[in-house]
Amino acid sequence: MSVSLHSLSQVRNDTRKAGEVVLVGAGPGDPGLLTLHAYQALQQAEVVLYDALVSQPILDLIPASTECIAVGKRCGAHSLPQAEIERVMVAKAASGARVVRLKGGDPLMFGRGGEEMQTLKEAGIPFRVVPGVTAASACSAYGAMPLTHRGVAQGVTFVTGHGQDGQPIEDWRPYVIAGHTLVIYMGLKRAGTIQAGLLAAGMAPEMPVAIVGQASQAGHRRVNGTLATLERLANQPDLPSPAAILVGETTAMAAELDWFDPASQPEVSSKSLDNIFDSAAM
Ligand code: SAH
Repeated sequence: MSVSLHSLSQVRNDTRKAGEVVLVGAGPGDPGLLTLHAYQALQQAEVVLYDALVSQPILDLIPASTECIAVGKRCGAHSLPQAEIERVMVAKAASGARVVRLKGGDPLMFGRGGEEMQTLKEAGIPFRVVPGVTAASACSAYGAMPLTHRGVAQGVTFVTGHGQDGQPIEDWRPYVIAGHTLVIYMGLKRAGTIQAGLLAAGMAPEMPVAIVGQASQAGHRRVNGTLATLERLANQPDLPSPAAILVGETTAMAAELDWFDPASQPEVSSKSLDNIFDSAAM
Protein backbone atom coordinates (compact mmCIF):
# COMPACT_ATOMS: atom_id res chain seq x y z
CA MET A 1 0.00 0.00 0.00
CA SER A 2 2.74 2.47 0.90
CA VAL A 3 4.46 1.84 -2.44
CA SER A 4 1.41 2.64 -4.50
CA LEU A 5 0.63 5.79 -2.52
CA HIS A 6 4.22 6.91 -2.76
CA SER A 7 4.39 6.41 -6.50
CA LEU A 8 1.04 8.12 -6.88
CA SER A 9 2.30 11.27 -5.12
CA GLN A 10 5.44 11.27 -7.22
CA VAL A 11 3.54 11.07 -10.48
CA ARG A 12 1.19 13.85 -9.45
CA ASN A 13 3.91 16.12 -8.17
CA ASP A 14 6.36 15.75 -11.02
CA THR A 15 4.38 15.67 -14.20
CA ARG A 16 1.43 18.00 -13.72
CA LYS A 17 2.07 20.98 -15.94
CA ALA A 18 -0.99 20.96 -18.17
CA GLY A 19 -4.38 21.56 -16.62
CA GLU A 20 -6.62 18.69 -15.69
CA VAL A 21 -9.91 18.04 -13.97
CA VAL A 22 -10.49 15.46 -11.27
CA LEU A 23 -14.16 14.65 -10.76
CA VAL A 24 -14.19 13.76 -7.09
CA GLY A 25 -16.90 12.11 -5.05
CA ALA A 26 -16.94 13.65 -1.58
CA GLY A 27 -19.16 10.97 -0.09
CA PRO A 28 -22.18 11.62 2.13
CA GLY A 29 -20.65 14.16 4.51
CA ASP A 30 -18.37 12.54 7.07
CA PRO A 31 -14.80 13.40 5.98
CA GLY A 32 -13.73 9.94 7.14
CA LEU A 33 -15.56 8.58 4.11
CA LEU A 34 -13.37 10.44 1.61
CA THR A 35 -11.04 8.16 -0.32
CA LEU A 36 -7.28 8.72 -0.18
CA HIS A 37 -7.41 9.70 -3.85
CA ALA A 38 -10.09 12.28 -3.06
CA TYR A 39 -8.11 13.72 -0.18
CA GLN A 40 -4.92 13.88 -2.20
CA ALA A 41 -6.69 15.53 -5.15
CA LEU A 42 -8.06 18.18 -2.78
CA GLN A 43 -4.60 18.88 -1.37
CA GLN A 44 -3.12 19.26 -4.85
CA ALA A 45 -5.92 21.26 -6.48
CA GLU A 46 -5.47 24.86 -7.48
CA VAL A 47 -9.19 25.35 -8.03
CA VAL A 48 -12.09 23.48 -6.41
CA LEU A 49 -15.58 23.79 -7.86
CA TYR A 50 -17.91 22.35 -5.24
CA ASP A 51 -21.57 21.51 -4.98
CA ALA A 52 -23.91 22.55 -2.18
CA LEU A 53 -24.15 18.96 -0.95
CA VAL A 54 -20.47 18.90 0.04
CA SER A 55 -20.29 19.16 3.83
CA GLN A 56 -18.41 21.87 5.70
CA PRO A 57 -16.02 19.44 7.45
CA ILE A 58 -14.86 18.31 3.99
CA LEU A 59 -14.49 21.87 2.73
CA ASP A 60 -12.40 22.54 5.85
CA LEU A 61 -9.82 20.02 4.57
CA ILE A 62 -9.07 22.17 1.51
CA PRO A 63 -5.93 24.31 1.96
CA ALA A 64 -6.77 27.98 2.57
CA SER A 65 -4.74 29.07 -0.48
CA THR A 66 -6.89 27.03 -2.91
CA GLU A 67 -9.42 28.92 -5.00
CA CYS A 68 -12.82 27.55 -4.02
CA ILE A 69 -15.91 28.25 -6.11
CA ALA A 70 -19.38 27.28 -4.85
CA VAL A 71 -21.35 26.20 -7.89
CA GLY A 72 -23.85 24.03 -6.11
CA LYS A 73 -27.51 23.62 -6.44
CA ARG A 74 -29.88 22.54 -3.76
CA CYS A 75 -33.64 22.04 -3.88
CA GLY A 76 -33.95 23.79 -7.22
CA ALA A 77 -32.07 26.92 -6.11
CA HIS A 78 -29.32 26.97 -8.70
CA SER A 79 -26.36 29.15 -7.94
CA LEU A 80 -24.83 28.45 -11.38
CA PRO A 81 -26.56 26.74 -14.31
CA GLN A 82 -24.96 23.44 -15.38
CA ALA A 83 -23.64 24.92 -18.64
CA GLU A 84 -21.95 27.71 -16.72
CA ILE A 85 -20.40 25.24 -14.24
CA GLU A 86 -18.98 23.30 -17.18
CA ARG A 87 -17.76 26.49 -18.85
CA VAL A 88 -15.86 27.58 -15.74
CA MET A 89 -14.46 24.07 -15.22
CA VAL A 90 -13.16 23.89 -18.79
CA ALA A 91 -11.81 27.46 -18.76
CA LYS A 92 -9.89 26.93 -15.51
CA ALA A 93 -8.35 23.66 -16.70
CA ALA A 94 -7.58 25.10 -20.16
CA SER A 95 -5.63 27.87 -18.45
CA GLY A 96 -3.41 25.19 -16.90
CA ALA A 97 -5.00 24.80 -13.46
CA ARG A 98 -5.41 21.55 -11.58
CA VAL A 99 -9.15 21.58 -11.04
CA VAL A 100 -11.19 19.43 -8.68
CA ARG A 101 -14.88 19.16 -9.42
CA LEU A 102 -16.16 18.12 -6.00
CA LYS A 103 -19.56 16.50 -5.76
CA GLY A 104 -21.61 14.98 -2.96
CA GLY A 105 -21.66 11.19 -2.80
CA ASP A 106 -20.49 9.58 -6.01
CA PRO A 107 -20.03 11.82 -9.05
CA LEU A 108 -21.70 9.35 -11.41
CA MET A 109 -24.78 8.74 -9.26
CA PHE A 110 -27.40 11.41 -9.97
CA GLY A 111 -24.55 13.90 -10.07
CA ARG A 112 -24.36 14.86 -13.75
CA GLY A 113 -20.80 13.57 -13.72
CA GLY A 114 -21.34 11.83 -17.05
CA GLU A 115 -22.30 15.10 -18.71
CA GLU A 116 -19.20 16.76 -17.33
CA MET A 117 -17.05 13.92 -18.64
CA GLN A 118 -18.60 14.39 -22.09
CA THR A 119 -17.85 18.11 -21.97
CA LEU A 120 -14.26 17.49 -20.90
CA LYS A 121 -13.77 14.90 -23.67
CA GLU A 122 -15.11 17.36 -26.24
CA ALA A 123 -12.83 20.10 -24.92
CA GLY A 124 -9.81 17.78 -24.94
CA ILE A 125 -9.16 18.32 -21.22
CA PRO A 126 -7.58 15.34 -19.44
CA PHE A 127 -9.62 14.13 -16.51
CA ARG A 128 -9.81 11.48 -13.83
CA VAL A 129 -12.78 10.28 -11.81
CA VAL A 130 -12.58 9.43 -8.11
CA PRO A 131 -15.67 7.53 -6.96
CA GLY A 132 -17.30 8.42 -3.66
CA VAL A 133 -19.52 6.68 -1.14
CA THR A 134 -23.01 7.20 -2.49
CA ALA A 135 -25.95 8.20 -0.30
CA ALA A 136 -27.54 4.75 -0.60
CA SER A 137 -24.50 3.13 0.99
CA ALA A 138 -24.39 5.71 3.76
CA CYS A 139 -28.12 5.41 4.50
CA SER A 140 -27.78 1.65 4.52
CA ALA A 141 -24.65 1.46 6.70
CA TYR A 142 -25.49 4.16 9.25
CA GLY A 143 -29.19 3.41 9.11
CA ALA A 144 -28.42 -0.27 9.89
CA MET A 145 -30.43 -1.57 6.92
CA PRO A 146 -28.62 -3.90 4.51
CA LEU A 147 -29.33 -3.10 0.85
CA THR A 148 -29.33 -6.82 0.17
CA HIS A 149 -29.67 -9.63 2.67
CA ARG A 150 -29.77 -13.36 2.06
CA GLY A 151 -33.34 -14.56 1.90
CA VAL A 152 -34.75 -11.04 2.24
CA ALA A 153 -33.51 -8.89 -0.65
CA GLN A 154 -31.66 -10.23 -3.66
CA GLY A 155 -31.26 -6.94 -5.45
CA VAL A 156 -31.34 -3.19 -5.10
CA THR A 157 -32.31 -0.37 -7.43
CA PHE A 158 -31.33 3.29 -7.15
CA VAL A 159 -33.85 5.72 -8.62
CA THR A 160 -34.49 9.43 -8.57
CA GLY A 161 -37.75 10.72 -7.20
CA HIS A 162 -37.25 14.13 -8.72
CA GLY A 163 -38.20 15.27 -12.17
CA GLN A 164 -36.07 18.33 -12.52
CA ASP A 165 -33.38 16.90 -14.77
CA GLY A 166 -35.58 14.26 -16.37
CA GLN A 167 -39.05 12.86 -16.06
CA PRO A 168 -40.18 11.69 -12.61
CA ILE A 169 -41.23 8.05 -12.52
CA GLU A 170 -44.94 7.82 -13.19
CA ASP A 171 -45.33 4.10 -13.69
CA TRP A 172 -43.71 2.33 -10.75
CA ARG A 173 -44.63 -1.18 -11.92
CA PRO A 174 -41.12 -2.02 -13.17
CA TYR A 175 -39.78 -1.17 -9.71
CA VAL A 176 -42.11 -3.34 -7.68
CA ILE A 177 -40.04 -6.50 -7.48
CA ALA A 178 -40.30 -9.18 -4.80
CA GLY A 179 -37.22 -9.42 -2.56
CA HIS A 180 -35.81 -6.12 -3.74
CA THR A 181 -34.74 -2.87 -2.10
CA LEU A 182 -35.43 0.52 -3.65
CA VAL A 183 -33.39 3.57 -2.77
CA ILE A 184 -35.05 6.78 -3.90
CA TYR A 185 -32.80 9.82 -4.16
CA MET A 186 -34.28 13.34 -4.22
CA GLY A 187 -37.69 11.96 -3.34
CA LEU A 188 -38.58 13.64 -0.08
CA LYS A 189 -40.69 16.45 -1.55
CA ARG A 190 -42.56 13.98 -3.75
CA ALA A 191 -43.09 11.32 -1.08
CA GLY A 192 -46.88 11.50 -1.45
CA THR A 193 -46.73 10.90 -5.20
CA ILE A 194 -44.17 8.13 -4.75
CA GLN A 195 -46.34 6.45 -2.13
CA ALA A 196 -49.38 6.62 -4.41
CA GLY A 197 -47.34 5.39 -7.39
CA LEU A 198 -45.95 2.37 -5.55
CA LEU A 199 -49.38 1.47 -4.17
CA ALA A 200 -50.93 1.80 -7.64
CA ALA A 201 -48.17 -0.45 -8.97
CA GLY A 202 -49.20 -3.16 -6.53
CA MET A 203 -46.80 -2.78 -3.62
CA ALA A 204 -48.33 -3.75 -0.28
CA PRO A 205 -49.22 -0.85 2.05
CA GLU A 206 -47.45 -2.80 4.82
CA MET A 207 -44.11 -2.76 2.96
CA PRO A 208 -41.49 -1.43 5.41
CA VAL A 209 -39.89 1.89 4.43
CA ALA A 210 -37.35 4.24 5.97
CA ILE A 211 -36.11 7.74 5.43
CA VAL A 212 -32.55 8.65 6.37
CA GLY A 213 -31.51 12.29 6.55
CA GLN A 214 -27.95 13.55 6.70
CA ALA A 215 -26.59 10.02 6.75
CA SER A 216 -23.12 9.84 8.32
CA GLN A 217 -23.29 13.44 9.55
CA ALA A 218 -23.80 14.91 13.02
CA GLY A 219 -27.49 15.54 12.21
CA HIS A 220 -28.08 11.97 11.00
CA ARG A 221 -31.64 10.77 11.55
CA ARG A 222 -33.57 7.68 10.49
CA VAL A 223 -37.33 7.21 10.62
CA ASN A 224 -39.08 3.95 9.84
CA GLY A 225 -42.63 3.14 8.84
CA THR A 226 -44.61 1.47 6.12
CA LEU A 227 -45.51 2.44 2.57
CA ALA A 228 -48.94 3.48 3.87
CA THR A 229 -47.26 6.08 6.13
CA LEU A 230 -44.48 7.25 3.78
CA GLU A 231 -45.90 10.71 3.10
CA ARG A 232 -46.46 11.31 6.80
CA LEU A 233 -42.90 10.19 7.61
CA ALA A 234 -41.50 12.54 4.97
CA ASN A 235 -43.46 15.49 6.31
CA GLN A 236 -42.07 15.33 9.84
CA PRO A 237 -40.85 18.85 10.51
CA ASP A 238 -37.53 17.86 12.07
CA LEU A 239 -36.38 15.46 9.35
CA PRO A 240 -32.99 16.76 8.18
CA SER A 241 -32.13 17.06 4.51
CA PRO A 242 -30.66 15.81 2.30
CA ALA A 243 -32.57 12.61 2.83
CA ALA A 244 -33.17 9.43 0.89
CA ILE A 245 -36.11 7.01 0.98
CA LEU A 246 -35.49 3.28 1.29
CA VAL A 247 -38.27 0.83 0.47
CA GLY A 248 -38.14 -2.89 1.16
CA GLU A 249 -38.16 -5.62 3.78
CA THR A 250 -34.56 -4.99 4.85
CA THR A 251 -35.50 -1.55 6.19
CA ALA A 252 -37.34 -3.33 9.03
CA MET A 253 -33.99 -4.84 10.10
CA ALA A 254 -32.92 -1.49 11.55
CA ALA A 255 -34.88 -2.32 14.72
CA GLU A 256 -32.55 -5.28 15.30
CA LEU A 257 -29.28 -3.94 13.82
CA ASP A 258 -29.26 -0.27 14.90
CA TRP A 259 -25.76 0.79 16.00
CA PHE A 260 -24.96 4.32 14.89
CA ASP A 261 -24.52 7.16 17.35
CA PRO A 262 -23.26 10.26 15.49
CA ALA A 263 -21.88 11.64 18.78
CA SER A 264 -19.49 8.72 19.22
CA GLN A 265 -18.34 8.52 15.60
CA PRO A 266 -14.51 8.73 15.51
CA GLU A 267 -13.32 12.04 14.12
CA VAL A 268 -10.91 12.33 11.22
CA SER A 269 -8.68 15.36 11.25
CA SER A 270 -6.61 16.70 8.37
CA LYS A 271 -3.57 16.16 10.59
CA SER A 272 -4.16 12.43 10.81
CA LEU A 273 -4.73 12.33 7.04
CA ASP A 274 -1.46 14.13 6.36
CA ASN A 275 0.28 11.53 8.48
CA ILE A 276 -1.05 8.81 6.20
CA PHE A 277 0.68 10.39 3.22
CA ASP A 278 3.86 11.20 5.16
CA SER A 279 4.31 7.63 6.27
CA ALA A 280 3.45 6.36 2.80
CA ALA A 281 6.18 8.50 1.28
CA MET A 282 8.88 7.35 3.73
N1 SAH B 1 -24.21 12.02 -6.13
C1 SAH B 1 -24.93 11.90 -4.88
C2 SAH B 1 -26.42 12.09 -5.06
C3 SAH B 1 -26.81 13.47 -5.53
S1 SAH B 1 -28.55 13.64 -5.64
C4 SAH B 1 -24.64 10.54 -4.25
O1 SAH B 1 -24.01 9.70 -4.87
O2 SAH B 1 -25.01 10.35 -3.10
C5 SAH B 1 -28.94 14.33 -4.06
C6 SAH B 1 -29.73 13.33 -3.22
O3 SAH B 1 -28.85 12.39 -2.62
C7 SAH B 1 -30.44 13.96 -2.06
O4 SAH B 1 -31.69 14.51 -2.45
C8 SAH B 1 -30.64 12.76 -1.14
O5 SAH B 1 -31.70 11.96 -1.58
C9 SAH B 1 -29.36 12.00 -1.36
N2 SAH B 1 -28.32 12.31 -0.35
C10 SAH B 1 -27.14 12.92 -0.54
N3 SAH B 1 -26.42 12.97 0.60
C11 SAH B 1 -27.17 12.36 1.54
C12 SAH B 1 -26.99 12.07 2.93
N4 SAH B 1 -25.86 12.41 3.58
N5 SAH B 1 -27.99 11.42 3.58
C13 SAH B 1 -29.11 11.05 2.95
N6 SAH B 1 -29.34 11.29 1.63
C14 SAH B 1 -28.39 11.93 0.95
